Amino acid sequence: MDIRKVVFDYYKGKSVQFLKGPNLFYMKGKTQLTLVFRCVIQISLPYEEMEILFDAESGKIIQSNNLVVGCSFSVYGEHNQKIKEMKTRELYVQRTGKIASPLNSVFVQGTGTVFKPDPLTSSGSQYGDTGFTDNNDQDSPQLTAQLFEVTLDSISYDNVTGYYSLVGPYCSITSIEPPYYPGDSLAYARDTSDFSTTRSDSTFEAVMAYYHITKSQKWIQSLGFYSIQNASMQVDPHALNDTNNAHYLSASNRIVYGYANDAVDISEDTTAIIHEYGHALQNYTGNYPFEDLNSWSLSEGFADYWAGSYARSYFDTDSVNRWAGRESITTRFKRTIIDDTLTYLATLPYYKSNGSSYGKEETVYRVYYNGTIWACTLTQIAEILGRSSTDKIVLESILQVPETVELNAIALLSAVNTIYHGSPDSI
Ligand SMILES: [Zn+2]
Repeated sequence: MDIRKVVFDYYKGKSVQFLKGPNLFYMKGKTQLTLVFRCVIQISLPYEEMEILFDAESGKIIQSNNLVVGCSFSVYGEHNQKIKEMKTRELYVQRTGKIASPLNSVFVQGTGTVFKPDPLTSSGSQYGDTGFTDNNDQDSPQLTAQLFEVTLDSISYDNVTGYYSLVGPYCSITSIEPPYYPGDSLAYARDTSDFSTTRSDSTFEAVMAYYHITKSQKWIQSLGFYSIQNASMQVDPHALNDTNNAHYLSASNRIVYGYANDAVDISEDTTAIIHEYGHALQNYTGNYPFEDLNSWSLSEGFADYWAGSYARSYFDTDSVNRWAGRESITTRFKRTIIDDTLTYLATLPYYKSNGSSYGKEETVYRVYYNGTIWACTLTQIAEILGRSSTDKIVLESILQVPETVELNAIALLSAVNTIYHGSPDSI
């Protein structure tokens, strides 16, 4: 049986690429083993990554799992909006057409401008205050005043062409999904190591993603973990045509951030950047299962904790996602909102572990609210133990791939044991 042909026929009219398989193996059912073909494919457009299992005898598809970890950063009522056709928007055309070639490149230090963690938090403002709105991606004096100059660690310099690009040991800017900005695929190659811009320039989102992902990875290594997503993560800062969401592509291990016409670009918000990176960290520890409500909720909770912890290295903030979420209900609070979250959850139908009795919409609400409880809990632990110790314990715990709240709690205690030899007093 030609499984590839079955797949191509099934997705007729779309572009299909095989990432893994088809491979033959036995799948454990309730009462028996079934011989199946398994393959992982990439489909475009729209962009999807799927794991598909076929009955090896009949060739029928018996299971298909979406491997894209989608994250919502918009107002809940809006997040199911149809993807609109991309409106014409002035493109920032690079002055060069040449990416720095890895063959000729060396790593050098560059400079750039970023928000830390977002313009609302650093200025003590609310979304909607004068100058603090998206306003179709335009600059305002208030937003420009919240830019910080930073060193871009280890960007590439091509010593043949003389161009610099945002490709480094821990993050590579690239283009994965539309819209295809010329700069994305060229990693914003330019003839100077200075990538400083204001937020209206599309280079800004690329610099934000490059800087903060690199910094998060270096922090992880400083805690003694040298093998959690330590290769260069491919990141598309301008993707998901006109939606202000983001997703982590778990099969190909890449991240894309939404580029919205009517909202803040996702990678203008440090916490949204690091939230997606959190999913990548978790997945890297061993095919973290995202498919059921429990593990997906825990994954969202970890990602929010990781993003909040990073943000608090700049400001003592209770929130993540303030700028990308436009201070909406999806601005998820980490310390004070736990009671409100529990109250909200109580209004929803009784939670069932397989989640199948809920529509997709409701499942999406739930993973974030459930996740908030987990993120709040970890953040409260961090208030007592401090950021370094808690980050270290939480990272160690996710290496155990716990899938339920109970197993996560046990994994945290076991991590304390591993790192501090069973004595929390020594933390
Ligand atoms: Zn997420």
